[in-house]
Amino acid sequence: MGGEIIISANLEKDWKDIVHRCFRCGYCKFTADYSDFNCPSYKKYRFETFSTGGRMWTIYGLISGEIPWNDQVANVIYACSTCGNCMEHCKFDKFKDFLVDFIEAAREEAYNQGYCPNKQKALLERIENLEMYNPYGEKNSENDALKKEYDLPDEAEWVYFIGCTSNYRQKELRDATLRFLKKANINFTLIDEHCCCSPILRTGQTKNVKEFVNYNLMKIRETGASKVITSCAGCYRTMKSDWTKYDNSTDIEILHTIELIDGLIKEGKLNFKSELNQKVTYHDPCHLGRHMKIYEVPRNILKNIPGIDLVEMERNRGNSWCCGAGGGVKIGYPEWSLEISKERLEEAKNTNASLIASACPFCRTNLNDANREFEMNFEILDIIEIIDNLDYEIN
Ligand code: SF4
Ligand code: SF4
Repeated sequence: MGGEIIISANLEKDWKDIVHRCFRCGYCKFTADYSDFNCPSYKKYRFETFSTGGRMWTIYGLISGEIPWNDQVANVIYACSTCGNCMEHCKFDKFKDFLVDFIEAAREEAYNQGYCPNKQKALLERIENLEMYNPYGEKNSENDALKKEYDLPDEAEWVYFIGCTSNYRQKELRDATLRFLKKANINFTLIDEHCCCSPILRTGQTKNVKEFVNYNLMKIRETGASKVITSCAGCYRTMKSDWTKYDNSTDIEILHTIELIDGLIKEGKLNFKSELNQKVTYHDPCHLGRHMKIYEVPRNILKNIPGIDLVEMERNRGNSWCCGAGGGVKIGYPEWSLEISKERLEEAKNTNASLIASACPFCRTNLNDANREFEMNFEILDIIEIIDNLDYEIN
């Protein structure tokens, strides 16, 4: 513990001289070939203030005092899924890397000024609750029962960080991951984990994040583990790129489950003994794709599963259309969140795939919710669940 603390929390100090460099050119709203709007926020509101450029100038107005905080302005700041399309397609090198950081810093300011919307505030209230420590309002699982069920040691080389969505809403995905890790002979254990803090970081409620990061790192270090593996794109991004802002001395390697699986395939150790004769399309989670640049690893796994016919949606990789769940949009704007997912499912329909694969329990939740709501009849599974349904050997 105890590295230098570098937290970007102050909107004016960190961003005042940078945010106004936006040209207002509008490239950030589009896909790479400008064939479609790809900013979910602009596509819904069709008003410049809800594009990234408009948001940059709103933020500048807030910093300079020309625009006062009120609920309408807070809505502009919060009606964004932090999908990162703008970071991908803004033409202004370096500046573009900070676009989502500007929005998240403005959310911190909204929270400090008392304008964080109530729905998003519930995330922090639940995570801070001493009986919960998760954004779903469930009693903290502590994971002791799972440790017993899977015969896991107290000390191990790896920790499987389950993440709140898998532990409280997508248990099939959690259990499939546990079975895979056991079969792969990974020396791993679980901790009494508290939320990784993704939901509160993305919604600007950062006041206790350091405490949560320190707690989780302490629990991980108590096991002696040098590696942490997770099946959640949100946990992965948060642990790998946000936790280091709170403790940059961390020496723990963070992996997504798909990185382990891909490595085993490339080493010739994972061999599939059954087939999946199905047309499959892959949805890139924003937290794994645009935010962490992992595009080919999941595709390589799917291509190696015998029988799978992998087909791409028109918008894929850096051009992907968001599932609509991130950035506090699912809790803050539940109907809009489903509309965003519906657009993704309609795009998937055009590929004639019957199965949508992803690598994020939160994408799986939202795509499934829209699938049910709009009766789209897809099968929607995480890659680890697809593998769990197959016969395979790991040598
Ligand atoms: S954020 Fe980038 S692409 Fe968007 S309007 Fe500003 S400079 Fe142009
Ligand atoms: S992060 Fe996504 S939703 Fe938010 S402004 Fe950028 S492109 Fe639009």
